[in-house]
Amino acid sequence: MKVAICTLGCKVNQYETQALEAELIRRGHTLVPFPGPADACIVNTCAVTAVSGKKSRQAVRRAKKENPAALVGVCGCYAQTSPEPAAALGADLVMGTAGRLAFLDRLEELAAGRPGPITEVDNPMRRRSFERLPAGGLEGRTRAMLKVEDGCVNFCTYCIIPYARGPVRSLPPAEAAREAARLAGEGYRELVLTGIEISSWGADFRDGTGLIDLTEAVCAAAPGCRVRLGSLEPRTVTEDFCRRAAALDSLCPHFHLSLQSGCDATLKRMGRKYDSERYYQSVKLLRDHFCCPGITTDLIVGFPGETEAEFEETLDFLRRCAFSAVHIFPYSRRAGTPAADWPDQVPNAVKEDRARRAAAVAEALSRRWLERWIGETLPVLFEEERNGLWRGHAPNYTEVWAAGDGLHNQVREVRITSAASGSLRGILPEKAPPASGRGGGGAPDF
Ligand code: SF4
Repeated sequence: MKVAICTLGCKVNQYETQALEAELIRRGHTLVPFPGPADACIVNTCAVTAVSGKKSRQAVRRAKKENPAALVGVCGCYAQTSPEPAAALGADLVMGTAGRLAFLDRLEELAAGRPGPITEVDNPMRRRSFERLPAGGLEGRTRAMLKVEDGCVNFCTYCIIPYARGPVRSLPPAEAAREAARLAGEGYRELVLTGIEISSWGADFRDGTGLIDLTEAVCAAAPGCRVRLGSLEPRTVTEDFCRRAAALDSLCPHFHLSLQSGCDATLKRMGRKYDSERYYQSVKLLRDHFCCPGITTDLIVGFPGETEAEFEETLDFLRRCAFSAVHIFPYSRRAGTPAADWPDQVPNAVKEDRARRAAAVAEALSRRWLERWIGETLPVLFEEERNGLWRGHAPNYTEVWAAGDGLHNQVREVRITSAASGSLRGILPEKAPPASGRGGGGAPDF
C-alpha cells in the first residue's frame, strides 16, 4: 500500500509516527507525503488543547476528502480520549495510544477485505508494560528520539494526558542503553530522551532507580553522541541529580523545566507538586552546577481563577528565572478534567492579552540570553541547509546559523557574531579556538 501519515502534537507522537513508518517499510509498504494520493492515510492525533483536537479532526476530514477511496486510520491521544467523535468522522479504523503494531495489523486486515469500520480503544489505566517500538530520527540523521517512558499519574487539574496515556511505564535501563548504542552506531550525533513525563522514569520499577541512573547509562552506551533530556519536573533537579549530571561530558546543558505558573496559589489550583521557591531552587542548582545552561519552560496563562495580581506574579517570576525561551499557552478547557468545570473561567480576550504580555517578557529574556553569546565560541551540530546558510543547535539548544560547505551532521566550533530573530549567527573560525567551558564550548567533541 501507499501510506500517508499526518502527525499532530508532541515529540512522543512524532517518535511513534517514526516507529509506524519504520514498521510500514519493514512490511513492504511505501510512504508518501500526506495527504496522498494514497491507499491508506493515518492520522496520529493530539488532544492536549482544544485546538489540537480541532486540528486532529480537520486532518481526518482532509484525508477522507483528498482520498475518497483510501482507508483512513486514526490513532493517538485524541482517538484515545474521544473515540466516538473520531469514528463519526468516517474513519475506517480508530485505535488509541497503545498497540501500534496491532493498529497496522488492523489496517492491513481492512485492506485485505475485513469489514469495517473498527474501533478498538483499551482502558489506558490498565496498562502495565512499556510498548517497545523501533527508535527513529528527526532532522535527517542528526538527532534521534529515544522514547524511554510513557504515561503520567500527576493528574494536574488542567491536563487530559493521564487519561490518554495511563500510568507510568518505563523502558528498562539496559534496553535503553542498547538502543542508544544502536542509534549512535547508525550515525546519529544527538539522542533526546523523551516520554510523556520522563521525570517519573523508573517509578514503576519500585527499586529507587531514577532518571539520572538512566541518563548515566545512556551517556556511557553512546559515547560519540550528545544526550539531551526532554521536559523535566522541578522535583527531579536535586543536588545529587545536578552533581551526577554535570559529570557527564556528553549531556547537553539544556533543561526544559515545566513551570506553568509562577504564582503559588495558581500552582496549587493546577495541582502542580511544587511551589515557586522549589522551582527556583531547581533553577539555581542547575546554574550552580553547569556553565550557563539553557533553561526553557512552558507557561499556561488564564488558568481558571487567575487574577491580574497572580498573573503579574508570574511575569515577575519569569524575569527572576531569566529563561532562555518560554512556550506560552492560553489555558484550554479540556472536558473530563477538574478545571474544565470550575466556574471562574477567564474570558478569552483576557487570556489572549496575558499571552501577549507574557510573550513580550519572554522575548526580552530571550534577546538577553542570545546577546550574552556574542563573541563566544559554541560547538554546533549542523542539521540542514537553507538559503545558503547551515542551521544547527548548540548544546544549550540555541539555534545557530553559519555559512559553510557540507556541514550536515557535523559538530563544528562556531564563533558567534550576532543575534537576531530568536537565533544566533556565527562564523566557522579557520582554526578552532581552545574550549572555554561546557556551556561556552568546553566539550568540543559534542
Ligand atoms: S505532569 Fe501534569 S501536565 Fe504533565 S502530562 Fe502529567 S498531568 Fe499533564
